[in-house]
Amino acid sequence: MTTPAHPRTSDELIRAEEPVLAHNYHPLPVVVARAEGVWMEDVEGRRYLDLLAGYSALNFGHRHPALVAAAHRQLDRLTLTSRAFHNDRLAPFAERLAALTGTDMVLPMNTGAEAVESGIKVARKWAYDVKGVPADTATIVVAAGNFHGRTTTLVGFSTDETARAGFGPFAPGFRVVPYNDLAALEAAVDGTTAAVLIEPIQGEAGVLIPDDGYLAGVRELTRRAGCLFVADEIQSGLGRTGHTLAVDHEAVVPDVVLLGKALGGGIVPVSAVAGRREVLGVLHPGEHGSTFGGNPLAAAVGTAVVELLETGEFQRRAAELGVVLREGLTALVGRGVVGFRARGLWAGVDVDPALGTGRDLSERLMREGLLVKDTHGSTIRLAPPLTITEDELRGALGTLEKVLTA
Ligand SMILES: *Cc1c(COP(=O)(O)O)cnc(C)c1O
Repeated sequence: MTTPAHPRTSDELIRAEEPVLAHNYHPLPVVVARAEGVWMEDVEGRRYLDLLAGYSALNFGHRHPALVAAAHRQLDRLTLTSRAFHNDRLAPFAERLAALTGTDMVLPMNTGAEAVESGIKVARKWAYDVKGVPADTATIVVAAGNFHGRTTTLVGFSTDETARAGFGPFAPGFRVVPYNDLAALEAAVDGTTAAVLIEPIQGEAGVLIPDDGYLAGVRELTRRAGCLFVADEIQSGLGRTGHTLAVDHEAVVPDVVLLGKALGGGIVPVSAVAGRREVLGVLHPGEHGSTFGGNPLAAAVGTAVVELLETGEFQRRAAELGVVLREGLTALVGRGVVGFRARGLWAGVDVDPALGTGRDLSERLMREGLLVKDTHGSTIRLAPPLTITEDELRGALGTLEKVLTA
């Protein structure tokens, strides 16, 4: 192992990754070295506006002062106990998160995928213990185009062949129906159904927003069928859409809500399953766990995140600036933009394929100082930190216009 005598350039660092890092990502060619708020800076000191916000893990921007302070305070006191012992941060975190989400109980985990896995385990246990489904026959109904994470179980019911192919055999017990289709959902639900698991807005699929009435319909249907409604709010939740949860748009209360990403304030991975006592109450000691889940550092940061959301300021900002975003994108339709879907500070923008792929466009925007992420084909996703100012947002829309109409 040789260490170069001089600080390495972005190009050198990108080349250095190739032989030593698994190639499971294809990042934009930018090497970020520091960041604050909505701004990131690369190794050479070039500045970029972050319009991805870590897939909504950075809803409060980079290094939000209140979150960094909470982390620092906790680093100086206690970082890890494991759940073999209690820690003094966990109860306050659970109390406040349950209150924020209107639920009774919280199961803390780390990554989003773990929250989904935990939600699936809870739903199955509930189906056997409470609903009376015969052992090992429970089914879970999911939607085509879903993204719930990367474990073998979760990619097993993905409809994205790139995410799935080559990783089987997969866990049985999942039924896939088209998204935003209540009739298909109704037909797939039967006496074996433990839960319907859906994203209230499908982020990875391109910010697909279901028709008004769909979420309420899922709620009504699952109630009638006697199965759980599990909402994966890992990307859509915690302020992004202008509400605390995306399901709030239809005033719908699922049985179980899965949270992650922004819950860790962009500092540590923090996720949680939040739900009613009759549901989360099915777990008993030894039946589920995680060494790091609910650790004091995560709980301290998570509590600070909940405190930010309790003010309602970020939800309000997302709603208000969402109007600016929508107006800006509307003005680009027919001028490089074919169509878009937006709610709050979150948009999937379909770019005219004649202008290049989403990746091409992302690289062009990067050279203009805007960092975005393409999803499928010619779709790019915009999800700035909720701390972005109106001027910064208008500036970003101006850059987008410049690149699209060049
Ligand atoms: C990101 C995401 C996950 C997985 O979270 P990880 O922390 O990457 O494991 C699950 N569901 C949704 C909707 C997501 O956006």
